[in-house]
Amino acid sequence: MSSISNDTGPGMIRKSVRVRGVVQGVGFRPFVYRLATEEHLAGFIGNDTDGVIIELEGPASGIETFLKRLSCETPPLARIDSVVTADLPLAGERSFRIVASEVLGRVSTGIPADAATCPDCLCELLDPGDRRYRYPFLNCTNCGPRFTITRRIPYDRPQTSMAVFPMCAECQAEYDDPLNRRFHAQPNACWRCGPHVWLETSVGSKIESADPVAETIERLLRGEILAIKGIGGFHLAVDATNEAAVSSLRNRKHRYGKPLAIMVRDLDAAHVLCELTPDEQALLQTPARPIVLSHARPDNPVAPSVAPGIPWLGIYFPYAPLQHLLFADPRVTALVMTSANLSEEPIAIDNDEARARLGNIADAFLMHNREILQRCDDSVAAIVDGSPQLIRRARGYVPLAIPLSIEAPPLLAVGAHLKNVIALARGKFAYQSQHLGDLENSTGLEFFEHSLAHLSHTFEIEPQTIVHDLHPGYLSTSWAKQYASEHGGLRLITVQHHHAHIAACMAEHALAGPVIGLSLDGTGYGTDGRIWGGEVLICTLDSFERFAHLDYVPMPGGEAAIREPWRMAFAHLVNAGFSEDEARELTGGSDQEGRLLSRMMARGINSPLTSSLGRLYDAAAAVILKRRKVDYDAQAAIELEGIAIGESDMLRRSEYVPELAGSDPAQGGPRVLGIARLWRALVDDLGRSTPPASIAANFHMGIAMGFIASAISAREATSITHVVLSGGCMHNRRLARLLRSGLEKEGFEVFKHRQVSPGDGGLSYGQAAVAAAILEKEATHS
Ligand SMILES: [Zn+2]
Ligand SMILES: [Zn+2]
Ligand SMILES: [Zn+2]
Repeated sequence: MSSISNDTGPGMIRKSVRVRGVVQGVGFRPFVYRLATEEHLAGFIGNDTDGVIIELEGPASGIETFLKRLSCETPPLARIDSVVTADLPLAGERSFRIVASEVLGRVSTGIPADAATCPDCLCELLDPGDRRYRYPFLNCTNCGPRFTITRRIPYDRPQTSMAVFPMCAECQAEYDDPLNRRFHAQPNACWRCGPHVWLETSVGSKIESADPVAETIERLLRGEILAIKGIGGFHLAVDATNEAAVSSLRNRKHRYGKPLAIMVRDLDAAHVLCELTPDEQALLQTPARPIVLSHARPDNPVAPSVAPGIPWLGIYFPYAPLQHLLFADPRVTALVMTSANLSEEPIAIDNDEARARLGNIADAFLMHNREILQRCDDSVAAIVDGSPQLIRRARGYVPLAIPLSIEAPPLLAVGAHLKNVIALARGKFAYQSQHLGDLENSTGLEFFEHSLAHLSHTFEIEPQTIVHDLHPGYLSTSWAKQYASEHGGLRLITVQHHHAHIAACMAEHALAGPVIGLSLDGTGYGTDGRIWGGEVLICTLDSFERFAHLDYVPMPGGEAAIREPWRMAFAHLVNAGFSEDEARELTGGSDQEGRLLSRMMARGINSPLTSSLGRLYDAAAAVILKRRKVDYDAQAAIELEGIAIGESDMLRRSEYVPELAGSDPAQGGPRVLGIARLWRALVDDLGRSTPPASIAANFHMGIAMGFIASAISAREATSITHVVLSGGCMHNRRLARLLRSGLEKEGFEVFKHRQVSPGDGGLSYGQAAVAAAILEKEATHS
């Protein structure tokens, strides 16, 4: 507590200052304490349900300076959304205090997101004179784990996995001192009192070593595969420049094509690998430290099997002290650091679980004894058309609130089927879970239920409404129905997949609609029972109309057509009028395969009709790049985007643009974007030996122009000038740029995702927004 002069004379005022935003658990109170003390102001600060409340007493000029500094000098992890002040009568206070939370009533129940080691802590980590020199778990109020170590609210040490490490006297003194960087830093620890690391063999016997980190480095440099326990789960690490080590990791993990993420020390190291734009550099350095996809340098030293067939690398920076220690050795330049899981299973977090699941993959384990309570993958982001876009929203972003434009009663949105993310909502906010992965296996479902329990406890939301996708076969749909009936018949709301995508982007921009929504996607269940995905929708938040869609083609083999793009190509070619023999030859299929597919399509056996743009991309890649099968989701489409890099945007042949046909006047209904002409042009170009890169670029441009023409037609019919872009295809940077710039040229105002993924990871947020709108409409009409 600091004393100031007891002046209650003229010029003295008292004000209350209400601050909302991310202001709890991020060092905000000590920051305000320091500011108030420096400006010689009396009063107090405390957390309450709404954020923080400050009362200040002192000279008006001091309070004015305080308010200016409050906004300019905000601590790195804090985010001020609003500051509201009010005048109060003088109270004659002489000092500034931090008051206990209880004094102000119920505390807001949020938990901050995990944040990367801050520059101050990094200096200490590498300073031989510091008492935390090379301590792998140092942190402060400006950095460190939060969400992943918290069992339940309130976010206090006893509720975290730090509870079993009582602080030593020195750490406790820091924790208690409002002017210390570690004031109320819940995971505060040091060599004397905190967690520690050790090395184990692949069968779980301890490897004696005076310095397990140094030993880990030696092993990595020898080409070994290390399982390293991190913040949100285990990573599998190998030297990214060692081809033998990387291939051996792929073989043991049974993961063949999917690109692996690379951790590098700093910007200098990143520049050796990638051609980074200033936006990408900034994104890499945010406290969330996402993996950022950026353009690889042709001469980069990374092993070829890290990201085969694509011109991008996913790179990120160390975000935990243990990772910084690995890179403190100058011989360590780039490490593959990939989530320790098999295919789409949840990432391993528990020591025993890791021993059991990774024993066949890792040569050794770098373990520690701080429990990970919430598993959380690394986030993945990219700069798409000039702004950051999340591909996977997880560590560093979860569980930060995402605003909703319409107040929601307590509800749960269960998301999609693959790449699942759930969302809880109440009032003006939605809270998305971390990336939960595919719900196809029992571990996936367990993770789903665990996250739901944790999230609903954390934000004290007991859902009264359950929102699910229209697809009757999704596990999330049957789960939602069962949960609703088991909980006394909760309200169920069904939301169509592509409407949810557009609604997610509308809600991010607080748009009520109507808007023209381009929902360009892989697959989602449509209201006609077909598989949609190339959709021009007229949307409000609570409803939509289908204005136009890509022409339907069969998906021979259903799911198999996703794993084997040549099947989609075959269907598209036959649909465009090519003979079975021509289609077989162009897709590299055998006689038998050709006959089988023709029969399936002719008789409609396991050949659902789809209007998916994602599947059209797959099909084009299968023909242009001879990519018959894929090892991971969207691989063919990603390769097609990759090969077009550097090509001009000029459209060489107008036939590449899908033709918008009118709807049957007798039947009404949506208009259809025909693609037969596009296929004939594409095959003709291949026959003329046009370079694949040029065909790929024309394909992108044609698709963009087809959808822009549809938007113009929708505007003529409705006078709507707002266009919202969403769906998994918006991860395609070339397509996103061509659409946005083309639409703007035509006078549209264009909206893109900022906070949630345009892919299925963002779906639950859109579902929540639709449900909130439907419920509000019902309430006002009843
Ligand atoms: Zn720190
Ligand atoms: Zn200590
Ligand atoms: Zn989707």
